[in-house]
Amino acid sequence: MNSQLNADLHCHSVVSDGTLTPEALAARAAANGVELWALTDHDEVGGQQRAQEAAHAHGMKYLTGVEISVTFAGQTVHIIGLGFDPEDAAMRQGLYDTRGGRGARAREMSDQLALVGIKNAYEGALRYVGNPELISRTHFARFLVEAGVCRDTNEVFRRFLTEGKPGFVPHRWANLRDAVHWINEAGGTAVIAHPARYKFTANEEFALFSEFKTHGGRGVEVVTGSHTAAEAARYAETAKEFSLVASRGSDFHSPDESHTDLGRLPPLPGGLTPVWELLSDRVR
Ligand code: AMP
Ligand code: MN
Ligand code: MN
Ligand code: MN
Repeated sequence: MNSQLNADLHCHSVVSDGTLTPEALAARAAANGVELWALTDHDEVGGQQRAQEAAHAHGMKYLTGVEISVTFAGQTVHIIGLGFDPEDAAMRQGLYDTRGGRGARAREMSDQLALVGIKNAYEGALRYVGNPELISRTHFARFLVEAGVCRDTNEVFRRFLTEGKPGFVPHRWANLRDAVHWINEAGGTAVIAHPARYKFTANEEFALFSEFKTHGGRGVEVVTGSHTAAEAARYAETAKEFSLVASRGSDFHSPDESHTDLGRLPPLPGGLTPVWELLSDRVR
């Protein structure tokens, strides 16, 4: 498989905080020319079998996927797992534990929003949830748009759901070492998702990449819907510096919200090893 392959290895379905089913995502990916696809729901592998079957029905190759929420240096970092065995018991238990606490966090978010005059946000967000264990900030954002509080979900995050804002509740997710180990022990490869999105100092970012490598992490997302061309170029250099393979994924959530559609991404910059080369024996 060559490095110019149209691979899209990052997106979300109704199993986490996307708005499309795995089948609808597969159809959309295929229509957009995706050749190798992975569904990477947050902290959950419940959509994997459906996604793989739908991929094959559309003639696409498939890699199993997940996006694990991790807490590192006081911030949330996302680690993508690709090409693992989705039946692996330790991984399933780890993801189950990582999902735990989302319900209590959501109730606290709702209580805080009530203090600034937004009533019944928990019940409102729940109406958007496909998987009750996976209630996320995205579901609150959709409810606040519906309720007319904000024009779009970006505005909700800016005004309410991020650090220092009235609907933000700090949360402790999995630790980096555990997430990388679950993925590796299930036969997959761990990838740091959208590195330009984090607000680390240079030292913290260096620590993230170094510790990730030490724990057995092997890849970094270079081309993603949340990177500019300059950010992709920057993390292409980081990939070389840390000898990491490179991944590519839209992070598509919804036709109404996502500005980067499935498969509609620039190619990986030259001089990198694509993650799918490392995972060629895991492609189904
Ligand atoms: P959670 O896992 O509940 O903390 O929710 C995180 C999700 O919220 C991410 O996966 C994104 O889908 C979404 N998100 C986070 N920050 C933003 C933002 N600034 N604008 C839009 N969506 C965001
Ligand atoms: Mn999301
Ligand atoms: Mn993410
Ligand atoms: Mn994502």
